[in-house]
Amino acid sequence: MIEPKFHPGEEILLDYAGGSLAEPLALVVATHLAFCPWCRRQVAELEAIGGALLEDEEPEPLSPNCLAEMMARLDEGGGPGKGQRGECRADPDPVPIPEPLRSYLGGALASLNWRPVGRGLDQVDLGLGRGPVKACLVRLRAGAAVPRHSHQGLEMNLVLVGGYWDQRGHYHRGDVVIDDDTVDHRPVAECGGDCVCLNVTDAPLLMTGGLMRLLPSRLRW
Ligand SMILES: [Zn+2]
Repeated sequence: MIEPKFHPGEEILLDYAGGSLAEPLALVVATHLAFCPWCRRQVAELEAIGGALLEDEEPEPLSPNCLAEMMARLDEGGGPGKGQRGECRADPDPVPIPEPLRSYLGGALASLNWRPVGRGLDQVDLGLGRGPVKACLVRLRAGAAVPRHSHQGLEMNLVLVGGYWDQRGHYHRGDVVIDDDTVDHRPVAECGGDCVCLNVTDAPLLMTGGLMRLLPSRLRW
């Protein structure tokens, strides 16, 4: 497997290791770890540091049900927690989707309820998270472009299938791309095939390209 070139960054990995990321963001990071040995090592080191710090603290008594609850959670496959970083089992998708994201989808990419939101652009809402942080899958048809936009908050894209590019670079499977209010861009899918990304935003996009400013801002990418 080709290793990703774009990563979540140390600050986000630190929050992930500390368990303080919102669920949609943790899902992006946990799924990126399935692709990225470099970030897996970073998280392991941060966890080791966190564990050493915890050992210095007064131990809290475990609840009698603690072990049973942990085992039940492992049996269920759990959420986007740590420790679920392997590539997926036999998968009906031609390009396998790794855990933990695969468990969230409940089926092959082609079988999901894709909703058209623009020319060559479809999305599936994953119904995750509370408040402003939202997660969805976006699919951009080969060679199609997302209308030019900026960001009012943070946007994270994890490339799952194919790739896309903007003025800063080309992004491929496993890459995490983080955009904020300093980025104004027009992402374009590579011509070789459709691009599918896990997309997380904490605020609606700001459409900046010509007539698009007059349209409702319901696109998230
Ligand atoms: Zn990484």
